Amino acid sequence: MRIVIIGGGIAGLAAGIFAQRAGFDSVILEQHSIAGGLCTGWDRKGFHIDGCIHWLTGTRPETDLYRLWVETGALGNTEVYQPDVFTTVEHDGETVMLYRDLDRTREHLLEVSPDDRAEIERLIDYTRRFFSFQMPCGKPFDLMSIPDRIRLGMSMKDLRPVMKDLGKITLGEYVERVKHPAIREALRSGVVETYSAYILLFTLATFMSGNGDRPAGGSRALAKRMEERYIDLGGKIELRREVKEIVVREGYARGVLLADGTEVYGDYVVPTCDTHITIQRLLKGEYTDRGFEEKYANHRAYPLFSCIYASFGVDSDLSAYPADLVFQATPFAFEDGSRDQLSIKHYCYEPSFAPEGKSVVIAYLHASYDWWKQKRENMDAYGAEKTRLGNDIVQRIEARFPELRGEVTLLDVASPVTYERYCGAYRGAFMSFGITPEAKNLNHDGRIKGIKNLYMGGQWLMPPGGVPAALVTGKWAVQRICRAEKIGPFP
Ligand SMILES: Cc1cc2nc3c(=O)[nH]c(=O)nc-3n(C[C@H](O)[C@H](O)[C@H](O)COP(=O)(O)OP(=O)(O)OC[C@H]3O[C@@H](n4cnc5c(N)ncnc54)[C@H](O)[C@@H]3O)c2cc1C
Repeated sequence: MRIVIIGGGIAGLAAGIFAQRAGFDSVILEQHSIAGGLCTGWDRKGFHIDGCIHWLTGTRPETDLYRLWVETGALGNTEVYQPDVFTTVEHDGETVMLYRDLDRTREHLLEVSPDDRAEIERLIDYTRRFFSFQMPCGKPFDLMSIPDRIRLGMSMKDLRPVMKDLGKITLGEYVERVKHPAIREALRSGVVETYSAYILLFTLATFMSGNGDRPAGGSRALAKRMEERYIDLGGKIELRREVKEIVVREGYARGVLLADGTEVYGDYVVPTCDTHITIQRLLKGEYTDRGFEEKYANHRAYPLFSCIYASFGVDSDLSAYPADLVFQATPFAFEDGSRDQLSIKHYCYEPSFAPEGKSVVIAYLHASYDWWKQKRENMDAYGAEKTRLGNDIVQRIEARFPELRGEVTLLDVASPVTYERYCGAYRGAFMSFGITPEAKNLNHDGRIKGIKNLYMGGQWLMPPGGVPAALVTGKWAVQRICRAEKIGPFP
């Protein structure tokens, strides 16, 4: 029995690996020249730019997610880098650090702002409550039995006070409870301000409990290991194979039509590209899905975020500098306004990313897809704007670290349109829909009403997305096929 998988990102690779393990014959069709999708990296002038993983949830060996990463070849013998500090934020002459060690973070925050004691103690307590939380990845919700659901509910009992207090407010509203401006900035830098406040605590707990670290070799190498695992299991991956249409006959998905006119037949089709591509382009908008329609239309409840990802080579070893730093900068023009803050990261922990004695630095800014899309209509203006912005950022980095003057070289600026072009990312989004207090019905069962034998995977089924969501939903698509074919137990 044959499964045709559309897209060779993390979801597609996971679907392929589990399809092979379950005894199916599978093929992954990927439009790009390499697998990995958004989980990627690229080389520039002797430097490697990691385009994705800042933290990989599921690096703690006791978790179910870690076991999945090992089973898919992504982790296992791979070294994992565990930074001591989540972020360092400089604001109005004060420096706030969020350490890996929660007690150290508590002491530090109390020292910075004794007046915020009650709120700091609450933050620490709430974060600790998330330590034991595990992302459900065994079975999809629709395949769970009643006892499974009860167990899942029980596993979340420590979180009830947090959800009662923070479930209905945004991060932006939550940080207003803190009096100290620099601590407010540090908390704001954790996730997007319009996200539900508890997402920050989940993120901090993931990092602080040793479950959100950086695998050696970075994102591209991780995807490559999964691709190799898939091929070792007998899977076939075809690159530069763009799917143009999903062939549906009499209500059954029968395969796909490629852009070059070839038809590829399968007993099941598993699209793992963006759901927007699947529904609007590959199924030509002929099938409606109310859940996705609402999510794509209601940007307030389900916001999307895209970014400018500017990378730099530095002629110095920055190991002694903060690896994740947010600092104030003299204002520089950005889109139709200006910015006065920069968030930068260096990757000195990873020797393969830069020649000896040099470093690679990434600056990351939230950006408007529409603005950059319009700019790209004139390629010269688009190129010039990216270079201008990159050079402005170089100047701000040099102003903050005068000893680096003349050593910082602009390598590359990726815009939301870059992500759209290379990865097919809807509106250049780097994650799925944001989780806000207004968001409902977050998870999707991967089915499209009116089509049998089609099971979607990918980060859009599990907001807010990320590589673990891609991994798990890719696996779940195959689990649903196994259920339909009465194949069990799932391997
Ligand atoms: C800058 C940045 C930083 C990030 N940081 C993190 C992080 O720290 N931690 C984290 O967990 N996540 C992070 N993410 C998000 C993460 O990269 C994604 O959530 C994840 O990779 C999505 O995987 P996916 O398989 O669902 O989709 P994708 O990676 O989008 O894969 C879909 C694949 O389908 C292919 N495709 C599309 N259309 C077609 C077609 N018609 N025919 C054939 N193939 C097609 C695409 O080329 C692509 O390869 C980051 C992303 C970015 C951009």
